Amino acid sequence: MLLSLVMPCFNEAENVDAMHDAILAAFEGCGFAYELVFVDDGSRDGTFGRLCALRERSALPIRLLRFSRNFGKESAIYAGLSHAKGAYVTLIDADLQQPPALALEMLRHLERHPEEDCVAAFQERRHEGKGIVFLKKAFYRLMNRMTEIEFVQGASDFRTMRRSMVDAILSMGEHNRFSKGIFSWVGFRTHYIPYSARERNAGSTKWSTWKLFKYAFDGIVSFTTMPLRLASFAGVGASLASIVYMLVVVIQKLFFQIDVPGYATLAVLILLLGGIELFSLGILGEYLAKTYVESKRRPIYLTREVLEPKQEKAQ
Ligand code: UDP
Ligand code: MG
Repeated sequence: MLLSLVMPCFNEAENVDAMHDAILAAFEGCGFAYELVFVDDGSRDGTFGRLCALRERSALPIRLLRFSRNFGKESAIYAGLSHAKGAYVTLIDADLQQPPALALEMLRHLERHPEEDCVAAFQERRHEGKGIVFLKKAFYRLMNRMTEIEFVQGASDFRTMRRSMVDAILSMGEHNRFSKGIFSWVGFRTHYIPYSARERNAGSTKWSTWKLFKYAFDGIVSFTTMPLRLASFAGVGASLASIVYMLVVVIQKLFFQIDVPGYATLAVLILLLGGIELFSLGILGEYLAKTYVESKRRPIYLTREVLEPKQEKAQ
């Protein structure tokens, strides 16, 4: 098997057939064996039924994984990668936003360039609001500053990797999976090609602004301990500022007989220190919570069913 196409699906009943047909059209006459790996991430709209029917009627080898509940795209990616058999693996969304023809281009590129291990697509232009674009840019800048890994603006999960890179990703068994960070952390040489995402075929995106914000925050906590250091800096800063202020008050009192207005000063100081303390505790709590969850070593996903390709069973 040369290539596995891994597709996480959450409520994509309206899309999986179209996706299959689009892949078939794009790969027609490609001359090599490839398989489709669909991961049904706890869909509630009959996605799995559609996938089963697809597996029955399609001439392509189709592997199906069905989660016991919705574990999220990151878990679906992990599951898909661990069940993919190809020497190359492509990660692609099931909603037709990412053109399958590009996956073939990625594969050809890797075959031509043995020194590279991954081809990833990034979006040049996005159909998004100015606010979101600004926040995303700020996030990437922050991540590149704070962490040792490099994040490329607009890079998506849509990529084709060599087996060695896939195995490296699978060796990272962490529960909190921030794929963008993991792809970058494992190293390997990645080539970026531009693409423009199409409109979703059917259904709606599963991302809300709040979810995006949470995702960004998780990414930071997963890949850098810089916020902990920031909390320490805030503490040192507040202590230094209070020493300076203390000197100012003493000098005012001793040399200029100025009475310092007590109530206002106290109120401001208490609020300021309380704020810094809570902020630092919060950051500490975030890391502690992540450590707690990781320490339980729970599985990244649980499957209800795994269906091997029909062709393999027959053999
Ligand atoms: N997805 C998933 N589990 C989830 C959310 C999304 O497997 O909990 C899948 C979804 O079916 C799609 C891909 O991840 O194939 C990308 O999701 P979506 O289209 O909602 O994200 P966007 O394209 O808007 O970034
Ligand atoms: Mg999408």
